[in-house]
Amino acid sequence: MTERTSRAAPRAAVDEVAGICSDLIRIDTTNEGEGHGRPERPAAEHVAALLDEVGVTPTIVESAPGRASVLARVAGADPSRPAFLVHGHLDVVPAEPADWAVHPFSGEVRDGHVWGRGAVDMKGTVAMTLAVVRQRMREGRRTGGDLVLAFLADEESTGEFGSRHVVRRHREFLTGCTEAISESGGFSVTAGDRRIYPIATGERGTAWMKLTVRGVAGHGSKPAKDNAVAELSHAVSRLASHEWPVRLTPAVLALLDGLARALGTNIDHDRLDAEVRRLGAVGRLFEGTIRNSANPTLLAAGYKVNVVPGVATAQIDGRFLPGTGEEFLATVDRLLGPKVTREFINFEESSDADPGGPTFAALAGALRAEDPEAHPVPYVMSGGTDAKSFARLGIRGFGFAPLLLTPDLDYFGMFHGVDERVPVEGLRFGTRVLDRFLDTR
Ligand SMILES: [Zn+2]
Repeated sequence: MTERTSRAAPRAAVDEVAGICSDLIRIDTTNEGEGHGRPERPAAEHVAALLDEVGVTPTIVESAPGRASVLARVAGADPSRPAFLVHGHLDVVPAEPADWAVHPFSGEVRDGHVWGRGAVDMKGTVAMTLAVVRQRMREGRRTGGDLVLAFLADEESTGEFGSRHVVRRHREFLTGCTEAISESGGFSVTAGDRRIYPIATGERGTAWMKLTVRGVAGHGSKPAKDNAVAELSHAVSRLASHEWPVRLTPAVLALLDGLARALGTNIDHDRLDAEVRRLGAVGRLFEGTIRNSANPTLLAAGYKVNVVPGVATAQIDGRFLPGTGEEFLATVDRLLGPKVTREFINFEESSDADPGGPTFAALAGALRAEDPEAHPVPYVMSGGTDAKSFARLGIRGFGFAPLLLTPDLDYFGMFHGVDERVPVEGLRFGTRVLDRFLDTR
């Protein structure tokens, strides 16, 4: 219901998306974890203003001072259809300006790219979502079911101040949502003359663990009885050198099958590590999801060279595929042995959505409509996103942040990397794809 005024006509979604992305990058929302960093509030207010301008009524919720998320619900045209959730996060990981070719919080547009921390992960996608919703609102185009929007704090840590808070305290916004889209999928990976578009249908589960060994403290010159440092080191070493067996879940099998067809090649399931190397960028789509993993990431013990400490601790980043959680933990405990106690710092179940269902088909169809050379394939994320929080409410999440990338741009290298940037054309493409997809909701 825009009135014609003497002011400039509103810009189409594809024309304003890069500008919205730049503006969001300029608002520094660095998340240093454990509650530290720059709070999301200024970005949340900016996003809320962009929604408010087109008649969406946003609600800003805070989990702690400044830790703000934006929630909105746009009524659909057909109340009999389920609501659909589009979520993104407002925070970014830290960036060291000295390492970058442009300042990471400049949002500068240079050489056809928007540069800055969050361009790919994931202020670019937040910008696409906002641009599409703004245009649809101006044109009075509604989705069938209600459209629920969530722009969240704290994804780059545990989500405790963002998605988890929303699920705990504001789940009324999510009523009737059965499915969702968010980051980590829908981007192009070039392989020869083919463009593969992985769409995430699942995530490995997260098991961040703290290990503790208690021994006998004493003088460093005496024969050690029960040295906690040594015992912990042995246990961590056993865990780190374990060769986790390949476990092909239905979703990973669907990816291997889809890749083989798209590339016109055979993928040997018995030699997958070699296939990862042979297939290059495409191989990276499954290298982290054909088995479980447990990486030691932190060690702490002792305070003086001639004192044997009584306790030693380590932290482990464990990840497990859907359906393998019990096997994973049993293996971890066997490797650690009886002297190590294990507790979770953070535990999130794995998640799985149906790559054979109508939503996957609609996502793939939207990509093909904008890129006739698109080969969409399902894939599983090796790490986790906010989708896990919503999965607790039974909302099936798809990783779908559509982007057409130039062959030389390494998408995975951009994530949390130096000189993170996104092609303006890629954002415009993704905006069109997203709009098409929302037409099917
Ligand atoms: Zn992200």
